[in-house]
Amino acid sequence: MENDIIENIERVRASLKEGVTLVAVSKTHTAQEAKTAYDTGIRDFGENRVQELLEKKANLPDDIKWHLIGSLQTNKVRKVVGEAFLIHSLDRPELALAIEKESSKKDIVTDCLIEINIGCEDSKSGVLPEHLDELVELARSLKHIRIRGLMAIIPKGTQEENREYFKKMKQTFDDLKKKESENFSMEILSMGMTNDYVTAIDEGSTLVRVGEGIFGARDKNRGGNQNG
Ligand SMILES: *Cc1c(COP(=O)(O)O)cnc(C)c1O
Repeated sequence: MENDIIENIERVRASLKEGVTLVAVSKTHTAQEAKTAYDTGIRDFGENRVQELLEKKANLPDDIKWHLIGSLQTNKVRKVVGEAFLIHSLDRPELALAIEKESSKKDIVTDCLIEINIGCEDSKSGVLPEHLDELVELARSLKHIRIRGLMAIIPKGTQEENREYFKKMKQTFDDLKKKESENFSMEILSMGMTNDYVTAIDEGSTLVRVGEGIFGARDKNRGGNQNG
């Protein structure tokens, strides 16, 4: 088990380009398994549920950067603001306002990515492309949120279909660079998971979120691609 994790990380690392951050998605796996990854040098971990993120954080070294990658309910904002290094799933105005309010209360600035539902799938979270500008303008007006880039979970498909979605994301990312300001920048393009991260990197991803490709198969009854 431990050896598998170490070998998997070596294999994934070998296919990364310079400047690409590897986030090890430890959801549904134990703190001990995450610690094996930590010991190989991994310092970025992704969780999709707030509760699980907080529990792992309490049981693992302090120098880990915890990424919240799952969709976030406004009633969990209070718990995660100040705890997560980066929230990848800012996707709607009410969530932006809730993060702003809580960050202001704690007197901090919270780093977020805007999640885009680039495949316009009903089942997925993320702002629809047609509502992106609105959310961007709102976020740019909020003093306690700093937008650092974009995130997407693309639809399942062939490698060529994947590539088209990644290209669309990269185009949007590049377009939004024109709007850069003090609390709005396009530095991080979070796209690519176990099955498609090589293509994602090819198309300009700067951060890949790899779960099964590091920790092995997850129990399908726990932690899907959404939520907490
Ligand atoms: C679970 C999850 C991942 C990792 O998926 P794998 O296919 O296991 O690599 C990446 N991003 C998000 C948002 C997830 O929920």
